[in-house]
Amino acid sequence: MPANDHNAEETLDPQDWGKAAALAHRMIDDAITHVSNVRDRPVWKPMPDSVRAFFKAPLPQAQGDVTEAYEALTENLFPYSMGNIHPRFWGWYMGSSNFTGALADFLAAIEGSNLGGGNTAASELDRQVVSWLKSMTDFPASASETLTSGGSMANLVCLTVARNVKAGIDVRAEGVMTLPKPLRFYASDQAHSCIQKGLEILGLGAKSLHLIASKPDFTMDVAVLEAAIAADKAKGLEPVCVVATAGTTNTGAIDDIKTIAEICGRNKLWMHVDGCIGALLKIAPANKFKVDGIELADSLSLDPHKWLHAPFEVGCALVKDAKQHRDSFALHPAYLEEKQRGIGSGEFLADYSLELSRNLKALKVWLSLKENGVEKFGRLIDQNIAQAKYLTGLVNVEPRLELMAPTSINIVCFRYVFAGADEMQLKTVNSEIMLRLQEQGIAAPSDTTINGRHCIRAAITNHRTKQEDLTLLVEEVLRLGGELTSKS
Ligand SMILES: *Cc1c(COP(=O)(O)O)cnc(C)c1O
Repeated sequence: MPANDHNAEETLDPQDWGKAAALAHRMIDDAITHVSNVRDRPVWKPMPDSVRAFFKAPLPQAQGDVTEAYEALTENLFPYSMGNIHPRFWGWYMGSSNFTGALADFLAAIEGSNLGGGNTAASELDRQVVSWLKSMTDFPASASETLTSGGSMANLVCLTVARNVKAGIDVRAEGVMTLPKPLRFYASDQAHSCIQKGLEILGLGAKSLHLIASKPDFTMDVAVLEAAIAADKAKGLEPVCVVATAGTTNTGAIDDIKTIAEICGRNKLWMHVDGCIGALLKIAPANKFKVDGIELADSLSLDPHKWLHAPFEVGCALVKDAKQHRDSFALHPAYLEEKQRGIGSGEFLADYSLELSRNLKALKVWLSLKENGVEKFGRLIDQNIAQAKYLTGLVNVEPRLELMAPTSINIVCFRYVFAGADEMQLKTVNSEIMLRLQEQGIAAPSDTTINGRHCIRAAITNHRTKQEDLTLLVEEVLRLGGELTSKS
């Protein structure tokens, strides 16, 4: 140790806590303004070059001023966000966050525990939130669970357990190269891309995913599934798992869960449900019947940062057989030995996940559930579905618009149509309509292509959306479509 006096020893704590408190209060005041005024701002605006340049400044070497840095963020960061907290954001598939959840994320960071393990109240809170998520989705209390960064990671956790349980060998010890037969997983051609990515990462290859054709309503054709399982068996392949999607990303279609469960039972296959969109329908009184049977699954993934509007990020994997789940992930080297007493006692949460260090992401779910109650979240889901029905009605009565898929829940796919246009011209015009809606800050739908036909897609997972916002969307699509196709 250098022979300095102890005052020379450094810390990251503020030297002036009064100044730190003033800045913290200012941040909270600004945050309240930012969220409460969101409707008055454009949904999104493109960044000027000055902002890109700001984020190219070199690594700070010496002490700076945190207040100045914060002020720079109010100019360079906040005005150019994605817009997903705005009432007219319906792109891709996201929740719209909530203020209480954001405060909870701050409190979680202040509390500071690492959720990999530990005899802490934070671990108890994490367990409480996942037990609530189990009861929300009608999963039994005996099921195991882990909170994840999101749905992609939740699906990976579940696919890992499915692979390990059904492989017929000790995959953890032997690896996939010793599998006697190539494994096959089944999902509809509408399944999310993270299923394929997951199987690639698990060493099984994209070819291990046998995509099953969907029907005109974009749900999996279960007759094709049965035939595919039989044909793969005849070829010497090993069918192991069906991934049913409860709410597809393209159109919100919900696979025939009960029939798929029955097929899995008969063929002794693992049944996984990707419920990143639809699992939470279970809490929505008017629509919960649509996901009857997801509780039959061996594993279920869901995404509280979608329809529970938790600030990013939080996903969840549930596995019916806790032992099978633990057997896939538990590993205790000397430095993580289980203890009977002390900080490290109790079961490690990391025994159920590939992630070791984790934050207290459960707190944002906990606090907003305490504030609003699960019934309100359920009503908000029903509200979004009613809004999607309203938008669908507007599309259906407007001859210049065409509905591109049945509206199953909260996703509406439609396009602007005009006389004499081919698919290529329709794609050009509808892409331009979507981009101008975004660039003019009016609304943020995204787009997709279904059965080779391009369309604008509005996924209404937004507790701030009002019916009038959807009326405006239709008006603006018609305005832009008219401008783009009029021969001036
Ligand atoms: C969003 C989504 C995912 C991926 O979830 P992330 O939280 O974005 O990782 C997986 N499946 C479906 C059906 C989804 O909609």
